[in-house]
Amino acid sequence: MKTFFMNNLIDDVQKPEGLSFQSALSILDPSRTDLLSCLQAAYFFRVKYFKHEVLVHILNNVQNGFCPEDCRYCAQSKSSGAAIDIYPMKPEAEILAEAEDAFRKGAHCYCMVFAGTGPSPARIVELTRIIRKIKSNFAMDVCVSAGIVTPEQAVELKTAGLDRLNHNLNTSERNYGNICTTHSYSDRIETLRAAKTAGLQLCSGTIIGMGETHEDVVEVASRLREFKAESIPVNFYIPITGAAIKQAQGLTPEYCLRVLCLFRLMNPASEIRMAAGREMHLRSLEVMGLYAANSIFLQGYLNVQGEDNARTMQMIADAGFTIKSEIPLEHHTQSTCDKNQNSILKTISDLRPFQHTEKTPIK
Ligand code: SF4
Repeated sequence: MKTFFMNNLIDDVQKPEGLSFQSALSILDPSRTDLLSCLQAAYFFRVKYFKHEVLVHILNNVQNGFCPEDCRYCAQSKSSGAAIDIYPMKPEAEILAEAEDAFRKGAHCYCMVFAGTGPSPARIVELTRIIRKIKSNFAMDVCVSAGIVTPEQAVELKTAGLDRLNHNLNTSERNYGNICTTHSYSDRIETLRAAKTAGLQLCSGTIIGMGETHEDVVEVASRLREFKAESIPVNFYIPITGAAIKQAQGLTPEYCLRVLCLFRLMNPASEIRMAAGREMHLRSLEVMGLYAANSIFLQGYLNVQGEDNARTMQMIADAGFTIKSEIPLEHHTQSTCDKNQNSILKTISDLRPFQHTEKTPIK
């Protein structure tokens, strides 16, 4: 007997208190809800708030590796033996060239990601200068992922024009000690609070498949609802050789879709991103993820390659969606695939396509 059908779900989501913890749990349980009802309810809110648009994000690992933290899922952690290319912060000209390239590829948001515990004062100075240049030259949002950020640093970044700060919760408070021991869940919560207080949009999400329970998943979605996170990346764990967590646990395409529906229905007006691992774990059901999610990464993830950009754009077009960009979707449906098929890891040319850029292309 299916307990919750589409209309029940929609009604529950629209109550002042939102979807209850128990109803949220039922979305993850095939014995209690059928998948299409969940997807239809998720689609109702996806269209209500985002119509048929897909927001494209492109990541730039502006610094890779050298991290003293021990996050067990991360190829860049101090305990990882993953064969990734590591480098200190890229020169400004290289970062700006990548920002311009992201803009021309249709990115709605350009995300600069630093490995590490948190930014130094010198790093904040460099970062704010770069943010100002990107914002004054390209009509796209800028997001920074810089680890643990103080309230003062969040204000400096906001003043420079930063749109969003990324800091993922990743898993529940209960499960946090199983995935990281060098910083605490409350460190993460305080960074989210600093971003919100500074007036930054919050990008904070999860990684599914690291041994968490259904209750843990609902707990993360619920915390992000409390914070009114504007952007929620839902990642599905990609096991990288050398990382401490060896395998993704419990991920089937149907379960991944249910997780996307859960995050949409608990955070109906938030940007829900079908993030890392969409190709690997949703497989033939990937396109259905767009009925719950309204956002994707293009061009792969931090250290892992994604599918060919053109194939992603074709999937979006085939399903009747379009991208939110000044560059039309049709410009991006021609394959440029030349990636290394022998490894899921990005090569140095994937990570640093503009490594030898010498002049700052923009003011
Ligand atoms: S997730 Fe961030 S803080 Fe954790 S090990 Fe990776 S780079 Fe370091």
